Amino acid sequence: MAEAKMYKVYGVQNFRKIPQVERYLNEEQRFAIEVVGTVLPFKANSYVVEELIDWTQVPDDPIFILTFPQRSMLSDEHFNQMAEALKAGLKKPEIKAVANEIRMQLNPHPAGQLEHNVPMIEDTKLTGIQHKYDQTMLFFPQHGQTCHAYCTFCFRWPQFVGMDELKFAMRETELMVKYLEEHDEITDVLFTGGDPMIMKIDRLKMYLEPILESKDRHSVQTIRIGSKALGYWPYRFLTDNDAEEVLDLFKRLNDAGMHVSFMAHFNHPTELETPAVKQAIKRIRATGTQIRSQSPLMKNINADADTWAHMWKEQVRLGIIPYYMFLARDTGAQDYFAVPLAKAWKIFQKAYQQVSGIARTVRGPSMSADPGKVQVLGTTEIKDEKVFALRFLQGRVANWVHRPFFAKYDPNAIWLDDLEPAFDDEFFFERESEMLSVNPN
Ligand SMILES: *Cc1c(COP(=O)(O)O)cnc(C)c1O
Ligand code: SF4
Repeated sequence: MAEAKMYKVYGVQNFRKIPQVERYLNEEQRFAIEVVGTVLPFKANSYVVEELIDWTQVPDDPIFILTFPQRSMLSDEHFNQMAEALKAGLKKPEIKAVANEIRMQLNPHPAGQLEHNVPMIEDTKLTGIQHKYDQTMLFFPQHGQTCHAYCTFCFRWPQFVGMDELKFAMRETELMVKYLEEHDEITDVLFTGGDPMIMKIDRLKMYLEPILESKDRHSVQTIRIGSKALGYWPYRFLTDNDAEEVLDLFKRLNDAGMHVSFMAHFNHPTELETPAVKQAIKRIRATGTQIRSQSPLMKNINADADTWAHMWKEQVRLGIIPYYMFLARDTGAQDYFAVPLAKAWKIFQKAYQQVSGIARTVRGPSMSADPGKVQVLGTTEIKDEKVFALRFLQGRVANWVHRPFFAKYDPNAIWLDDLEPAFDDEFFFERESEMLSVNPN
């Protein structure tokens, strides 16, 4: 292997020292990054700065927008509030108080993330587990709650800025295994975060090996790892000092009869272009692991059909299965990224039409809303009324899934909450959904 790549991290404290920031940005732009980066999470690293961002295209470069806080991610009011606090030279705790005040106004827990779907076992709340859809249990390993860099659109932002009570975390792998043993409907465990691939091999083993060791006592057949490491730090699988052991762990899981599915977050085709990512993809696949891809659709980053078609085609070339196109969550800087449902569907359709059936494994555009994952199937006209056709890809109640339903057309709607039922007073799932919200488990 080549010389190890140095993982250097940048944030609001030290980003001014990045040579490209000094060279390509002016002071007004730098100050804007400081202001927004004091409220919203900001973390970049040497790979993102040196190999992904095309600094000659900044400020329009999509990876720059993806990782560096942008002026208009905050309202003028919030921006000025923080700008004044910084200019006044307030002390750290005072700045933090201003930041928290603004954060609380940015809907830090979208779509019932916190309240719902956290199971109990023997009177213990399993705060690191979310079990919403029968077959798949989400597990948030306590040591995987950060990332190699932060996406400016991320709905998990509260946990990165230290709003700790919002952090899902669980140390007890033992309880997780116990839960799996009691729930034989669960076939998939999805490790998520943050980014579980931030963890060193010892931690990864601590979480993954017990599932393997107990495999005769539960029904888990697929271990999914939701990770942005291929996009933000492919050296995780190349030159990091435990890279070989990580690959070996994947291989052992596959060899023991589990399916390891690496759920890769790629937001832009640029992330598939570097020699490092191509090599990392090859090495992961060589362990028998299948890579699937998912990304939100975001204005200012990837909101056009050709970008998606290109991205899906490149993924297929590299042996990756396109899986989901999401709509941006209703939290944080949503206004900056949100694409209306009608437009999102057009982008999806136009991209889908450009790729062969092999890439049409992708599903979307989909909203991860409180009642479930809702896919926009399209717009159509029924009896002279323009409507959206939608369906659940996943539902809080299993028999909601795959049932088409209709909403009144609204060109500005960006989320399920914005939609009104068509041909009826309420959506078919509404009453049951409300009952579940009163009594979540
Ligand atoms: C998306 C999601 C899953 C996985 O759903 P699949 O359709 O199996 O990919 C599981 N749990 C939650 C809470 C999710 O949002
Ligand atoms: S990698 Fe995923 S969890 Fe991490 S900041 Fe980006 S979207 Fe959020």
